[in-house]
Amino acid sequence: MAEQFLTEAQTKQPELTKHFMHVVKSGDLSHAYLFSGAAGVGKLALAKVTTMALFCLHPDETGFPCGQCNECLRIANNEHPDVLTVQPDGQSIKIEQVRALKREFSKSAVEGKQKVFIIDDSDTMTVGAANSMLKVIEEPLTTVTAFLLTTDYHHILATIRSRTQLVEFPQIQQEALVQFLKQQELSRTEINLALKITNSTTELDQLLADQWLGKMKRQLEGWLTWISKGDARAFPYVQTNLMPLVKDRFSQNVTITMICLIFQDVFNVKFRDQAAADLAFGDVYDLLKSMAQQLSDQQIVSMINDILTTSQLQRANVGFQGILEVITLKCLHVITS
Ligand SMILES: [Zn+2]
Repeated sequence: MAEQFLTEAQTKQPELTKHFMHVVKSGDLSHAYLFSGAAGVGKLALAKVTTMALFCLHPDETGFPCGQCNECLRIANNEHPDVLTVQPDGQSIKIEQVRALKREFSKSAVEGKQKVFIIDDSDTMTVGAANSMLKVIEEPLTTVTAFLLTTDYHHILATIRSRTQLVEFPQIQQEALVQFLKQQELSRTEINLALKITNSTTELDQLLADQWLGKMKRQLEGWLTWISKGDARAFPYVQTNLMPLVKDRFSQNVTITMICLIFQDVFNVKFRDQAAADLAFGDVYDLLKSMAQQLSDQQIVSMINDILTTSQLQRANVGFQGILEVITLKCLHVITS
Protein backbone atom coordinates (compact mmCIF):
# COMPACT_ATOMS: atom_id res chain seq x y z
CA MET A 1 0.00 0.00 0.00
CA ALA A 2 2.73 2.49 0.93
CA GLU A 3 4.62 1.72 -2.27
CA GLN A 4 1.41 2.14 -4.23
CA PHE A 5 0.81 5.64 -2.86
CA LEU A 6 4.41 6.56 -3.69
CA THR A 7 4.13 5.29 -7.26
CA GLU A 8 0.77 6.94 -7.73
CA ALA A 9 1.89 10.35 -6.45
CA GLN A 10 5.12 10.29 -8.46
CA THR A 11 3.55 9.21 -11.72
CA LYS A 12 0.39 11.29 -11.52
CA GLN A 13 1.81 14.46 -9.98
CA PRO A 14 5.60 14.40 -10.27
CA GLU A 15 6.05 18.17 -9.86
CA LEU A 16 3.74 18.59 -6.88
CA THR A 17 5.23 15.53 -5.21
CA LYS A 18 8.75 16.86 -5.57
CA HIS A 19 7.59 20.22 -4.25
CA PHE A 20 5.96 18.77 -1.15
CA MET A 21 8.92 16.54 -0.34
CA HIS A 22 11.09 19.64 -0.43
CA VAL A 23 8.65 21.56 1.79
CA VAL A 24 8.63 18.77 4.39
CA LYS A 25 12.40 18.45 4.31
CA SER A 26 12.88 22.16 4.92
CA GLY A 27 10.27 22.16 7.70
CA ASP A 28 8.01 24.64 5.91
CA LEU A 29 4.78 22.65 5.87
CA SER A 30 1.72 24.87 6.43
CA HIS A 31 -0.92 23.91 8.94
CA ALA A 32 -3.76 23.48 6.46
CA TYR A 33 -3.94 22.64 2.76
CA LEU A 34 -6.87 22.45 0.40
CA PHE A 35 -6.11 19.95 -2.37
CA SER A 36 -8.44 20.58 -5.30
CA GLY A 37 -8.64 18.56 -8.50
CA ALA A 38 -10.69 16.05 -10.49
CA ALA A 39 -11.27 12.56 -9.13
CA GLY A 40 -8.25 10.33 -9.61
CA VAL A 41 -5.58 13.00 -10.04
CA GLY A 42 -3.68 11.75 -7.00
CA LYS A 43 -4.84 14.02 -4.16
CA LEU A 44 -5.10 11.29 -1.54
CA ALA A 45 -1.83 9.73 -2.70
CA LEU A 46 0.03 13.03 -2.32
CA ALA A 47 -1.52 13.71 1.11
CA LYS A 48 -0.45 10.23 2.23
CA VAL A 49 3.05 10.51 0.79
CA THR A 50 3.57 13.95 2.33
CA THR A 51 2.47 12.54 5.68
CA MET A 52 4.75 9.55 5.24
CA ALA A 53 7.61 11.98 4.52
CA LEU A 54 6.88 13.75 7.83
CA PHE A 55 7.05 10.56 9.88
CA CYS A 56 9.38 8.33 7.85
CA LEU A 57 12.34 6.85 9.73
CA HIS A 58 14.50 6.58 6.62
CA PRO A 59 13.66 9.32 4.08
CA ASP A 60 16.11 9.68 1.20
CA GLU A 61 18.25 12.78 0.69
CA THR A 62 15.52 14.54 -1.33
CA GLY A 63 12.96 13.99 1.42
CA PHE A 64 11.07 11.08 -0.17
CA PRO A 65 9.76 8.58 2.37
CA CYS A 66 11.11 5.04 2.17
CA GLY A 67 7.67 3.44 1.90
CA GLN A 68 8.89 0.48 3.95
CA CYS A 69 9.47 1.50 7.52
CA ASN A 70 6.90 0.95 10.24
CA GLU A 71 5.78 4.60 10.12
CA CYS A 72 5.24 4.59 6.35
CA LEU A 73 3.35 1.31 6.46
CA ARG A 74 1.06 2.32 9.31
CA ILE A 75 0.21 5.62 7.61
CA ALA A 76 -0.58 3.89 4.31
CA ASN A 77 -2.76 1.32 6.08
CA ASN A 78 -4.65 3.89 8.20
CA GLU A 79 -3.16 2.39 11.35
CA HIS A 80 -1.07 5.30 12.63
CA PRO A 81 -2.49 6.76 15.88
CA ASP A 82 -1.36 10.30 15.01
CA VAL A 83 -2.69 10.32 11.46
CA LEU A 84 -6.44 10.34 10.94
CA THR A 85 -8.24 10.07 7.65
CA VAL A 86 -11.92 11.01 7.54
CA GLN A 87 -14.17 9.93 4.72
CA PRO A 88 -17.87 10.57 4.14
CA ASP A 89 -20.14 8.44 6.26
CA GLY A 90 -22.71 7.75 3.55
CA GLN A 91 -23.34 10.90 1.53
CA SER A 92 -21.69 13.39 3.84
CA ILE A 93 -19.09 14.06 6.49
CA LYS A 94 -21.09 14.65 9.64
CA ILE A 95 -20.48 16.88 12.62
CA GLU A 96 -19.99 13.84 14.87
CA GLN A 97 -17.07 12.75 12.70
CA VAL A 98 -15.40 16.14 13.03
CA ARG A 99 -16.06 16.16 16.78
CA ALA A 100 -14.48 12.74 17.13
CA LEU A 101 -11.50 14.01 15.21
CA LYS A 102 -11.22 17.05 17.49
CA ARG A 103 -11.35 14.83 20.55
CA GLU A 104 -8.51 12.78 19.15
CA PHE A 105 -6.48 15.86 18.46
CA SER A 106 -7.04 17.47 21.82
CA LYS A 107 -5.04 14.60 23.28
CA SER A 108 -1.35 15.04 22.81
CA ALA A 109 0.24 13.10 20.03
CA VAL A 110 0.37 9.45 20.95
CA GLU A 111 3.83 8.74 19.71
CA GLY A 112 5.51 11.93 18.55
CA LYS A 113 4.77 15.60 18.41
CA GLN A 114 3.21 15.69 15.00
CA LYS A 115 -0.41 15.01 14.08
CA VAL A 116 -2.01 14.96 10.68
CA PHE A 117 -5.57 14.73 9.54
CA ILE A 118 -6.78 14.12 6.03
CA ILE A 119 -10.38 14.93 5.12
CA ASP A 120 -11.32 13.18 1.90
CA ASP A 121 -14.24 14.59 -0.13
CA SER A 122 -14.24 17.56 2.23
CA ASP A 123 -16.92 19.30 0.15
CA THR A 124 -19.38 16.75 1.55
CA MET A 125 -19.03 18.21 5.06
CA THR A 126 -22.40 19.30 6.38
CA VAL A 127 -22.58 22.98 7.41
CA GLY A 128 -22.29 21.90 11.03
CA ALA A 129 -19.27 19.77 10.28
CA ALA A 130 -17.65 22.56 8.26
CA ASN A 131 -18.12 25.09 11.06
CA SER A 132 -16.74 22.66 13.56
CA MET A 133 -13.78 22.07 11.27
CA LEU A 134 -13.30 25.80 10.94
CA LYS A 135 -12.55 26.02 14.67
CA VAL A 136 -9.81 23.43 14.29
CA ILE A 137 -8.01 25.29 11.56
CA GLU A 138 -8.68 28.72 13.07
CA GLU A 139 -6.49 27.85 16.00
CA PRO A 140 -3.51 26.50 14.18
CA LEU A 141 -1.18 24.39 16.21
CA THR A 142 2.27 24.05 14.81
CA THR A 143 2.09 20.37 15.47
CA VAL A 144 -1.07 19.75 13.45
CA THR A 145 -1.28 19.60 9.69
CA ALA A 146 -4.58 19.27 7.83
CA PHE A 147 -5.16 18.15 4.28
CA LEU A 148 -8.65 18.88 2.97
CA LEU A 149 -9.35 17.12 -0.32
CA THR A 150 -12.02 18.20 -2.80
CA THR A 151 -12.88 17.85 -6.47
CA ASP A 152 -13.83 21.52 -6.58
CA TYR A 153 -12.68 24.11 -4.07
CA HIS A 154 -15.62 26.37 -4.96
CA HIS A 155 -17.77 23.98 -2.96
CA ILE A 156 -15.81 24.66 0.20
CA LEU A 157 -16.96 27.36 2.62
CA ALA A 158 -15.14 30.61 1.93
CA THR A 159 -14.18 30.87 5.59
CA ILE A 160 -12.38 27.54 5.38
CA ARG A 161 -10.88 28.31 1.99
CA SER A 162 -9.34 31.53 3.27
CA ARG A 163 -7.60 29.71 6.10
CA THR A 164 -6.07 27.00 3.98
CA GLN A 165 -3.42 27.00 1.32
CA LEU A 166 -5.05 26.08 -1.99
CA VAL A 167 -3.21 23.56 -4.16
CA GLU A 168 -4.81 23.02 -7.55
CA PHE A 169 -4.00 19.65 -9.08
CA PRO A 170 -3.50 19.74 -12.86
CA GLN A 171 -5.18 17.17 -15.09
CA ILE A 172 -3.00 14.17 -15.72
CA GLN A 173 -1.09 14.20 -18.98
CA GLN A 174 -1.50 11.29 -21.38
CA GLU A 175 2.21 10.52 -21.00
CA ALA A 176 1.85 10.26 -17.23
CA LEU A 177 -1.12 7.94 -17.69
CA VAL A 178 0.95 5.67 -19.92
CA GLN A 179 3.72 5.69 -17.32
CA PHE A 180 1.19 4.85 -14.63
CA LEU A 181 -0.21 1.97 -16.69
CA LYS A 182 3.27 0.63 -17.46
CA GLN A 183 3.95 0.49 -13.75
CA GLN A 184 0.88 -1.70 -13.33
CA GLU A 185 2.75 -4.19 -15.54
CA LEU A 186 0.32 -3.96 -18.41
CA SER A 187 1.25 -5.15 -21.88
CA ARG A 188 1.43 -2.71 -24.77
CA THR A 189 -1.95 -3.80 -26.14
CA GLU A 190 -3.54 -3.67 -22.69
CA ILE A 191 -2.33 -0.07 -22.35
CA ASN A 192 -3.82 0.74 -25.79
CA LEU A 193 -7.05 -0.88 -24.75
CA ALA A 194 -7.24 0.85 -21.37
CA LEU A 195 -6.63 4.30 -22.85
CA LYS A 196 -9.22 3.73 -25.58
CA ILE A 197 -11.75 2.94 -22.89
CA THR A 198 -11.11 5.89 -20.57
CA ASN A 199 -8.79 8.71 -19.58
CA SER A 200 -10.08 8.86 -16.06
CA THR A 201 -7.65 7.48 -13.53
CA THR A 202 -10.49 6.52 -11.22
CA GLU A 203 -12.00 4.39 -13.97
CA LEU A 204 -8.58 3.02 -14.88
CA ASP A 205 -8.12 1.97 -11.26
CA GLN A 206 -11.49 0.24 -11.47
CA LEU A 207 -10.54 -1.50 -14.72
CA LEU A 208 -7.27 -2.74 -13.32
CA ALA A 209 -8.61 -3.90 -9.96
CA ASP A 210 -8.20 -7.65 -9.67
CA GLN A 211 -6.71 -7.59 -13.21
CA TRP A 212 -10.21 -7.35 -14.60
CA LEU A 213 -9.20 -5.72 -17.87
CA GLY A 214 -6.69 -8.43 -18.80
CA LYS A 215 -9.15 -11.17 -17.89
CA MET A 216 -11.98 -9.69 -19.94
CA LYS A 217 -9.64 -9.03 -22.83
CA ARG A 218 -8.61 -12.70 -22.95
CA GLN A 219 -12.21 -13.90 -22.74
CA LEU A 220 -13.26 -11.56 -25.55
CA GLU A 221 -10.36 -12.84 -27.64
CA GLY A 222 -11.77 -16.35 -27.09
CA TRP A 223 -15.21 -15.11 -28.12
CA LEU A 224 -13.70 -13.53 -31.23
CA THR A 225 -12.07 -16.84 -32.17
CA TRP A 226 -15.53 -18.45 -32.49
CA ILE A 227 -17.05 -15.38 -34.15
CA SER A 228 -14.34 -15.15 -36.80
CA LYS A 229 -15.03 -18.76 -37.78
CA GLY A 230 -18.77 -18.19 -37.79
CA ASP A 231 -18.93 -20.91 -35.13
CA ALA A 232 -22.16 -21.00 -33.09
CA ARG A 233 -20.19 -21.94 -29.98
CA ALA A 234 -19.77 -18.17 -29.56
CA PHE A 235 -23.34 -18.19 -28.25
CA PRO A 236 -23.02 -20.39 -25.12
CA TYR A 237 -19.61 -18.80 -24.56
CA VAL A 238 -21.42 -15.62 -23.51
CA GLN A 239 -22.90 -17.35 -20.48
CA THR A 240 -19.94 -19.53 -19.56
CA ASN A 241 -17.04 -17.11 -20.11
CA LEU A 242 -18.17 -13.51 -20.43
CA MET A 243 -20.99 -13.20 -17.90
CA PRO A 244 -18.94 -14.34 -14.86
CA LEU A 245 -16.81 -11.19 -15.34
CA VAL A 246 -19.71 -8.77 -15.65
CA LYS A 247 -20.60 -7.59 -12.18
CA ASP A 248 -22.07 -4.13 -12.42
CA ARG A 249 -23.20 -1.38 -14.74
CA PHE A 250 -19.65 -0.14 -15.19
CA SER A 251 -18.34 -3.53 -16.34
CA GLN A 252 -21.38 -3.89 -18.62
CA ASN A 253 -20.61 -0.59 -20.34
CA VAL A 254 -16.92 -1.40 -20.63
CA THR A 255 -17.71 -4.82 -22.14
CA ILE A 256 -19.80 -3.18 -24.86
CA THR A 257 -17.04 -0.63 -25.49
CA MET A 258 -14.50 -3.43 -25.78
CA ILE A 259 -16.61 -5.30 -28.34
CA CYS A 260 -16.88 -2.09 -30.37
CA LEU A 261 -13.11 -1.68 -30.14
CA ILE A 262 -12.66 -5.14 -31.66
CA PHE A 263 -14.52 -4.01 -34.77
CA GLN A 264 -12.75 -0.68 -34.76
CA ASP A 265 -9.50 -2.66 -34.83
CA VAL A 266 -10.80 -4.74 -37.74
CA PHE A 267 -11.56 -1.50 -39.54
CA ASN A 268 -8.13 -0.07 -38.80
CA VAL A 269 -6.42 -3.23 -40.01
CA LYS A 270 -8.44 -3.21 -43.21
CA PHE A 271 -8.16 0.43 -44.17
CA ARG A 272 -5.27 1.89 -42.24
CA ASP A 273 -3.06 -1.16 -42.18
CA GLN A 274 -2.37 -0.51 -38.51
CA ALA A 275 0.32 -2.58 -36.84
CA ALA A 276 -0.56 -5.05 -34.07
CA ALA A 277 1.27 -2.93 -31.49
CA ASP A 278 -1.05 0.03 -32.09
CA LEU A 279 -4.27 -1.93 -31.69
CA ALA A 280 -6.35 -2.70 -28.62
CA PHE A 281 -6.63 -6.37 -29.59
CA GLY A 282 -3.28 -6.65 -31.35
CA ASP A 283 -2.54 -9.91 -29.54
CA VAL A 284 -5.02 -11.63 -31.86
CA TYR A 285 -3.90 -9.77 -34.96
CA ASP A 286 -4.42 -12.81 -37.21
CA LEU A 287 -8.07 -13.03 -36.24
CA LEU A 288 -8.56 -9.31 -36.89
CA LYS A 289 -6.82 -9.67 -40.23
CA SER A 290 -8.96 -12.59 -41.30
CA MET A 291 -12.12 -10.69 -40.35
CA ALA A 292 -10.86 -7.63 -42.19
CA GLN A 293 -10.58 -9.78 -45.32
CA GLN A 294 -14.04 -11.29 -44.89
CA LEU A 295 -16.00 -8.14 -44.13
CA SER A 296 -16.72 -5.11 -46.29
CA ASP A 297 -16.37 -1.61 -44.87
CA GLN A 298 -20.17 -1.36 -44.88
CA GLN A 299 -20.47 -4.52 -42.82
CA ILE A 300 -17.91 -3.37 -40.26
CA VAL A 301 -19.57 0.00 -39.77
CA SER A 302 -23.05 -1.49 -39.51
CA MET A 303 -21.68 -4.06 -37.05
CA ILE A 304 -20.50 -1.28 -34.72
CA ASN A 305 -23.84 0.48 -35.11
CA ASP A 306 -25.70 -2.74 -34.36
CA ILE A 307 -23.69 -3.28 -31.19
CA LEU A 308 -24.40 0.23 -29.96
CA THR A 309 -28.09 0.03 -30.82
CA THR A 310 -28.42 -3.32 -29.09
CA SER A 311 -26.66 -2.01 -26.01
CA GLN A 312 -29.35 0.66 -25.68
CA LEU A 313 -31.64 -2.17 -24.64
CA GLN A 314 -29.89 -1.83 -21.29
CA ARG A 315 -32.11 1.16 -20.63
CA ALA A 316 -35.16 -1.00 -21.25
CA ASN A 317 -33.81 -3.26 -18.51
CA VAL A 318 -33.22 -6.21 -20.77
CA GLY A 319 -30.85 -8.57 -18.97
CA PHE A 320 -27.25 -8.01 -19.96
CA GLN A 321 -26.71 -11.63 -20.95
CA GLY A 322 -29.58 -11.25 -23.42
CA ILE A 323 -27.93 -8.18 -24.90
CA LEU A 324 -24.59 -9.94 -25.37
CA GLU A 325 -26.36 -12.91 -26.92
CA VAL A 326 -28.16 -10.70 -29.43
CA ILE A 327 -24.87 -9.02 -30.30
CA THR A 328 -23.27 -12.44 -30.73
CA LEU A 329 -26.04 -13.62 -33.06
CA LYS A 330 -25.74 -10.46 -35.14
CA CYS A 331 -21.99 -10.90 -35.44
CA LEU A 332 -22.38 -14.55 -36.43
CA HIS A 333 -25.00 -13.59 -38.96
CA VAL A 334 -22.77 -11.00 -40.64
CA ILE A 335 -19.74 -13.24 -40.73
CA THR A 336 -21.61 -16.19 -42.25
CA SER A 337 -23.65 -14.19 -44.74
ZN1 LIG B 1 9.55 5.24 5.82
